[in-house]
Amino acid sequence: MLRIGLTGGIGAGKSTVARRLVELGATLVDADVVAREVVEPGSEGLAQVVAEFGSEVLDADGALDRPALGSIVFGDPAALTRLNGILHPLIGRRTMELVERAPEDGVLVQDIPLLVEGTMAPLFALVIVVNAAEDERVRRLVGDRGMSESEARARIGAQATDDARRAAADVWLDNSGSPDQARDEVDRLWRDRLLPFEENVRLGRPGSSRPPRLVEPDASWPVQYERLAARIGHAVGDAALRVDHIGSTAIPGLPAKDVLDIQLTVKELSAVDVALPALRGVGFIDRPGVDRDNPKPADPDPEHWRKRFLTSADPARPVNLHVRAEGSPGARYALLFRDWLRADRRARDEYLTVKRRAAERHAGDSDASRYVEEKEPWFDEALPKAEQWAQNEAWRNPTDGLL
Ligand code: ADP
Repeated sequence: MLRIGLTGGIGAGKSTVARRLVELGATLVDADVVAREVVEPGSEGLAQVVAEFGSEVLDADGALDRPALGSIVFGDPAALTRLNGILHPLIGRRTMELVERAPEDGVLVQDIPLLVEGTMAPLFALVIVVNAAEDERVRRLVGDRGMSESEARARIGAQATDDARRAAADVWLDNSGSPDQARDEVDRLWRDRLLPFEENVRLGRPGSSRPPRLVEPDASWPVQYERLAARIGHAVGDAALRVDHIGSTAIPGLPAKDVLDIQLTVKELSAVDVALPALRGVGFIDRPGVDRDNPKPADPDPEHWRKRFLTSADPARPVNLHVRAEGSPGARYALLFRDWLRADRRARDEYLTVKRRAAERHAGDSDASRYVEEKEPWFDEALPKAEQWAQNEAWRNPTDGLL
C-alpha cells in the first residue's frame, strides 16, 4: 500500500483533488470525516465530551453543538487540552482502522487539512500540497462557500504559511487555473508517479534507473533531504542513531546527479531487517545485492565495509539510502568526504572535473554504476588530503560515540 498525505490551505482545492484521486482508484481517508464520526450521536466520543463539558454542548437533537463547544474551549487552553485528550486518541484509532482496511495493493490518500501544522507528515511516502493564489482562494470561499471576505482571509491567515507548505510538499499541485487543468495534472500525477510508485513498492523494484547526468545544484536538495530524513527516522525509530545527508547533493554549489544520498547510522546492520516493513511504508525498498562499499587502502578488510542499501521506489525522486553501522569506516568516510568537500573549494573543483569526465564517458549507460566506479580512484588518491584536513580542523566523526 502506498500511503499518501494530501493537504492544502482552505479553498485551494484539496477536496476537489481528493475526489478525482478517488475516481482514479485511490482509497480516501478524510480526516474531517473521521473527526465528525467519532462524535456523532450515540458514539463513545460524544458521551465522553458530554461527561467532560456538560450537556450544554448538545443541540436540541442530541447532536454535538460545535459552536457551543467552541465557545467553551476557545481561549481556554486547559479545556482545549482536555478536549483534544478525548478526541485525538479516538481519531487516531479510527484512522488506523480505516488505513488497515484499505487494499494492500492500492494507493491510500489521507486528506488532512492540518498536515503541515501537525506532526503526521513523516508517516507518508509522499505529501501532495494543493495550492492556489490567496486572492483566488478567497474568491472561491466567498463565491462557493458563502464566507465573507474578511472571514476567508482570517481563516487563511490562521493556517500554515506557503513557505511551510512548500517545505512539506513532495508534490506541489498548482490549482490556480481552471478545474480542467487541475484535473489533467492530477491524472498525470496518478499515471506517471503514484501508480508506478505503488507498484514498485509492492514488487520491491527501485523507482528509477538513469544514466549519470550532472545537473546544476538545486537549492531545494537540503529541504528534500529533511523530508526524507524525517520519514526514515520515523520508520526506523530508536534504532536510527543518526540520519545524515551525504554525497554530492549535500555539498552546496556542487553540480551533481539528481540523486539524494542519505546515510542512516545504526548500531547493528540487522536493525534494518526489523525496520524493512516500515521503510517500505515510506517508499524505500531493500537492495540485497549491494551489501558493502569498496574497501579503501587504509582498511582493506571487506567485512568492515559491510552496509545495507535501499533505494526509493518513487519514479520521480531517486534516493539512495546507505545504512552503515556505528564505528564502521564507511560511515566515517562518507561524512569526512562531505565535510572536507564542503570546506575546501579546490577539492570540490577537482572532484567536479572528475565527475564531469566520468559523466561524459558514461552518458549512454542505462545506469550510473560504471560512472560511480570510475570516480572511485579519485577518492583513494584524495583520502590523505581529506585526513590531513580533518587533523588540521580537529574534525570529529559525528557517528562516533553515539550510544
Ligand atoms: P479545499 O478542500 O482545499 O478547502 P475545495 O476543493 O473544497 O477546497 O475547493 C474550494 C472551492 O473552490 C470549491 O467550491 C471548489 O468547487 C472550487 N474549486 C476547486 N478548484 C477550482 C478551480 N480550479 N477553479 C475554480 N474553482 C475551483
